[in-house]
Amino acid sequence: MSTAVRASAFNEPERPKNLQIRFTTIGGAFVDVIGLGEHRMNRWTCRGCKDSSRFPEEDYLARIREKANDHAAACRAIPLT
Ligand SMILES: [Zn+2]
Repeated sequence: MSTAVRASAFNEPERPKNLQIRFTTIGGAFVDVIGLGEHRMNRWTCRGCKDSSRFPEEDYLARIREKANDHAAACRAIPLT
């Protein structure tokens, strides 16, 4: 099975304020990392399955980047809007 990154089949939604990173999931949805950068209070939210950070108050960008990317690599939900 290929895990190569591909362009989403869906239109990219508007980019919210403080969007730091946006990953595409294998289902074609997006995982947004929103926050203030390297400091705490970053969170990730999947626009496909609605999963999100458990403890956003503790999430530095360096840590949350990997978590968000791992979720994007596993999530098969498609965007419903
Ligand atoms: Zn998801």
